[in-house]
Amino acid sequence: MKKFLVLLFVMIFIYKNGEAQKFPKATCTTIVSEAMLAEVDTTKPRGVSDNYHTWENGSVLLVKFMPGGSKILREKVIQFAKEWEKHANITFKFVADTARFTNLRIKLGKGYGHNSAVGTEAKFRAQDQLTINFDTLFFADADYYVEVVKKMGIVPPYTLDHLLMAMKKDPFHWNIKELGRVVMHEFGHALGLLHEQSYPGAVNWKKTDSVYNYYKETQGWDRDLVDFNVFEVSNQFYTNGTTYDAKSIMHYSISSWQTTDGFSLKDNYELSAGDKTLIAALYPKNQKISALTVPKVDITNFTKLNVVSSPSRNGLVITPTFDLKTNSKLGEVYFVARLADEDGYFIKTTNPYYSWGGTAAVYLKMNLLPNSKVSYNKGTKKNLELFLPFDQIPPLYGRKVLVAFAVYLDDVVNQQKDKLMYFSATKPLSITQ
Ligand SMILES: [Zn+2]
Repeated sequence: MKKFLVLLFVMIFIYKNGEAQKFPKATCTTIVSEAMLAEVDTTKPRGVSDNYHTWENGSVLLVKFMPGGSKILREKVIQFAKEWEKHANITFKFVADTARFTNLRIKLGKGYGHNSAVGTEAKFRAQDQLTINFDTLFFADADYYVEVVKKMGIVPPYTLDHLLMAMKKDPFHWNIKELGRVVMHEFGHALGLLHEQSYPGAVNWKKTDSVYNYYKETQGWDRDLVDFNVFEVSNQFYTNGTTYDAKSIMHYSISSWQTTDGFSLKDNYELSAGDKTLIAALYPKNQKISALTVPKVDITNFTKLNVVSSPSRNGLVITPTFDLKTNSKLGEVYFVARLADEDGYFIKTTNPYYSWGGTAAVYLKMNLLPNSKVSYNKGTKKNLELFLPFDQIPPLYGRKVLVAFAVYLDDVVNQQKDKLMYFSATKPLSITQ
């Protein structure tokens, strides 16, 4: 069982010793949803996006910076983010740091690597949490700082500590080309694009202990994280019929020693023709709805996840408060409440009825019409309750639990299941069984 908190929230500081790098370099650590992973197949590789987490076509996304980041860096981030607007029917509206509600929140600071929530998964994060992290240490002009370090009489190999020391001595020399590459890549994730190397069959990785050990030593990744960040293979459905694009801004660089056939790839610094075609198909300027649209539900105004331990009913009464909107395609929607321990691990159960994938849960399958809107538990209206009887869950022995509420969607037409549309969890609670 995967730990859900790891999948959704944990960002890990990682760097990579690229072959030609003078300083270690950050790798994008965006973590894709578990549901997108599929068995490896040998189908001809193609381009990929997460269609279930794209924004509504024509959206104006409100974006702000979290505290930090100089004026020049912020201006460059805005400039490169807006490259996508030229090809997509999306507007990034940058608003004041003090804005109370935003769709995307950018942190410019040292540490935690570069990463972004994928598309509308940004909604799973609270307004005080970032959705895109840029590690400014890796925007430093490495060539310039190597000279600074050399003048200090230090001999190679150079480490991040040397870079930090040089930056402290002589700040504000940025590698705008690298910044542009990273900003366009992360904003690609923010629009719902996935890593290009995750195309089925695109890269023949060496999945040997030596490769796992390399990432463990240089980046601190355990095997699960290497599987996620390096070897991930997208489901064929996400390819959208585009052809594999080695020039995509969404592609990692690859060293020949990492592949069984010696394939290697340098970083790309511009949006490729394939990137432009795919984003224009997902967010068309000349039509209201993309031809690539899949069933989706949009959860907004999620104000409360109320959990009451009821002695009279002998169970947990779970009432979430939110608005829901369906799009033009019909899907099957499930509201799921699961129990997790304080560390974020779902609690296993053998109960066949109160279970979601073998974990203690209660769920409701909803009948929702296309293009409809519903409000749940707003005002005095109580129209959604999930009830978990105490005698149907494993004994907790006084342990505190979290209640995690999620909305999943099954796209029956496309045979795609368990697409996570929303996620929220309570703080640890004491339950008297
Ligand atoms: Zn990435």
